Amino acid sequence: MVKINGRTKLVGIVGDPVAHTLSPVMHNAAFQALDLNWSYLPFHVEEDGFNDFIKWATTIENLVGLNVTMPYKEKVKPLLDELTPQAEILGAVNTIHFQEGRLIGHNTDGRGFLVSLKKDGRRDPSGKRALVIGAGGAAKSVAISLAIAGAKEIFIVNRTKDKAGRLAELVAKSFNCPAFGFDFSDDLKERVQASELIVNATPLGMLTNEVPQFFEHVTEKNFVYDLTYSPKEPKLLSLAKSKGASGIDGIGMLLYQGAAAFEIWAHLDPPVSVMKRALMDSLKKKGV
Ligand code: NAP
Repeated sequence: MVKINGRTKLVGIVGDPVAHTLSPVMHNAAFQALDLNWSYLPFHVEEDGFNDFIKWATTIENLVGLNVTMPYKEKVKPLLDELTPQAEILGAVNTIHFQEGRLIGHNTDGRGFLVSLKKDGRRDPSGKRALVIGAGGAAKSVAISLAIAGAKEIFIVNRTKDKAGRLAELVAKSFNCPAFGFDFSDDLKERVQASELIVNATPLGMLTNEVPQFFEHVTEKNFVYDLTYSPKEPKLLSLAKSKGASGIDGIGMLLYQGAAAFEIWAHLDPPVSVMKRALMDSLKKKGV
């Protein structure tokens, strides 16, 4: 049982929508496991009320922090006092820490991805080529993390080629990692074959049943990290496995970005196995 009394410390998630979020389950399980008098709440806030919500949140003395999800990860930046270098580079914030009257913006997505890639996937991107599908917020976190982790070369493939080009340019210029942008109509056979790691950072195969045509070149030499997750194996991941490739879904990234936020707020080691079990149980119950 989550206990709530006059001394309860609060954290939460703000977004529109938030009904689908698994974060409360994961964090509340962690608080309970460590017997902390903390509670994690969802805040469904519409666009025109967002700035007022953040202003109001700063007046709540026992509010320690917030996760920020779509569509506010970029919009929240000017409302904060300080951004960590990671959040600054990504231009997006997924975790706010209310610290002695100051609002500090963090981004734990990239860390979540890398920790999961290394721990769950047992892959180290250092010195390797990677192909990232997508050029949105998640793809940016992934591509920058891979560059920081020492990737040799990164290919960014996106439906909108301009965005792929811009992200590739940012990665190449800011992190000295060769990076190139493509769209789905480009001939990508050699790039797929050269990339030990392929990351899907789009809803492809999840919200839509579409599979990009270049995916036919995937072989047992590729490792596929699919950021999407559900109780069923994501379609791109399952297709890759049918071609002999190995890979994992994005539940680990969700877990470790949450664990990093927990650490920022509570200054304690997060009980990762408890958080993971809570996530998996909740996913199973949702049955989507
Ligand atoms: P976003 O900023 O809106 O970017 C969406 C990306 O997907 C863009 O590259 C977009 O291409 C592409 N896309 C969307 N619909 C498409 C379609 N029908 N066909 C081809 N490409 C399509 O979203 P995001 O935050 O980056 O999230 C991307 C995915 O990653 C989502 O599925 C999200 O659930 C997942 N994610 C998972 C985690 C995790 O913890 N596991 C964390 C963050 C995100 P255009 O540029 O052409 O529009």
